[in-house]
Amino acid sequence: MELKNIKAFGTAAAEAPLKEMTIQRRAVMPHDIEIEILYCGICHSDLHTARNDWGGTIYPAVPGHEIIGKVTKTGAEVTKLKVGDYAGVGCLVDSCRTCDSCKHDLEQYCLTGSTGTYNGKEKYLGTQTFGGYSEKIVVDEHFVLKVPSNLDLAATAPLLCAGITTWSPLRHWKVGKGSKVAVVGLGGLGHMAIKLAKALGAEVTLFSRTPGKEKDALQLGADAVVISTDTAQMKSVKGKFDLIIDTVPNVHDVNPYVATLSINGTLVLVGYLGKLEPLLNTVPMILGRKAVAGSLIGGIAETQEMLDFCGEHNITSDIELINMQDINEAYERMIKSDVRYRFVVDMASLKP
Ligand code: NAP
Ligand code: ZN
Repeated sequence: MELKNIKAFGTAAAEAPLKEMTIQRRAVMPHDIEIEILYCGICHSDLHTARNDWGGTIYPAVPGHEIIGKVTKTGAEVTKLKVGDYAGVGCLVDSCRTCDSCKHDLEQYCLTGSTGTYNGKEKYLGTQTFGGYSEKIVVDEHFVLKVPSNLDLAATAPLLCAGITTWSPLRHWKVGKGSKVAVVGLGGLGHMAIKLAKALGAEVTLFSRTPGKEKDALQLGADAVVISTDTAQMKSVKGKFDLIIDTVPNVHDVNPYVATLSINGTLVLVGYLGKLEPLLNTVPMILGRKAVAGSLIGGIAETQEMLDFCGEHNITSDIELINMQDINEAYERMIKSDVRYRFVVDMASLKP
């Protein structure tokens, strides 16, 4: 198969900074769309992968799964988009399409394993997949999203991961008018969770451990802010929430948040991957029919639904646009929770 050399930004080892490199993309197949990448959001998962926080990173690694670009080529069978259209790509570029999950538009839970936009297995080349910190990407049309025409392109990029990851649990747990929703952590996912829950009609509370983010949270649409390190403030919301979306990337004590769930309430973890410490106490769960759950991004149809909803409601991410060369500094700021509220790379900076 014909391969194309593509300029990208990635890392050769967990301890190494990201730098410019050359990767290879497959030629456009009949169902493929080639996209010139204009903007790519920076997700905390990019950092986890670059630094091998979860183990299993294949190097060189080129992260980036909040991609917005312009279609530059289409395969003969493509019907979804045409050359010149704007296109989005999120966290998935392939799945089996035949298993029960895929048939029910839940490609993210593909029973044979979906293909991540980066650090997945390139179906045709057998190499790792390379993400959006690059000039171009080639993706099967099924996994390419249509971008609402009224939204700012750079600020739309984070919807492809931060948006769908928070939208999916809001929809699954049927959040609407009258729902009481809380969000833990005001970062990329957290700020989208606030905006989307509010637009769905919920009353929204932010749990943050960072005093100083209160004003921003209210501006983003939160009705209240609870500083999670303040015991009195935590007590004041005991038994209140129908749904809590916990976006914290690191191990943390979930029990104080379970106490703030209503009877039948659910706390859904979307951030931290691993064993909980301290252990989860089942007593309040059993006595209040409360649940602790998890959720992974969202399927392609649901991602399109979210993008269309954002188009209708004029919702985008609050972003800080950076050059590709500033990525290492952006990662350091993300670790310090110093993101207001998503970094997006202007991919024009990768060109000479
Ligand atoms: P982010 O922008 O860095 O935001 C995380 C926020 O969590 C921070 O701003 C901070 O908010 C809070 N936080 C950080 N460390 C904390 C700690 N030790 N204890 C308590 N709170 C802490 O990250 P993100 O891009 O939103 O991603 C969040 C997590 O979701 C990452 O682990 C990422 O890998 C994961 N993720 C999961 C999925 C999925 O499908 N499930 C998809 C995308 C990302 P405050 O300052 O307000 O406390
Ligand atoms: Zn992500």
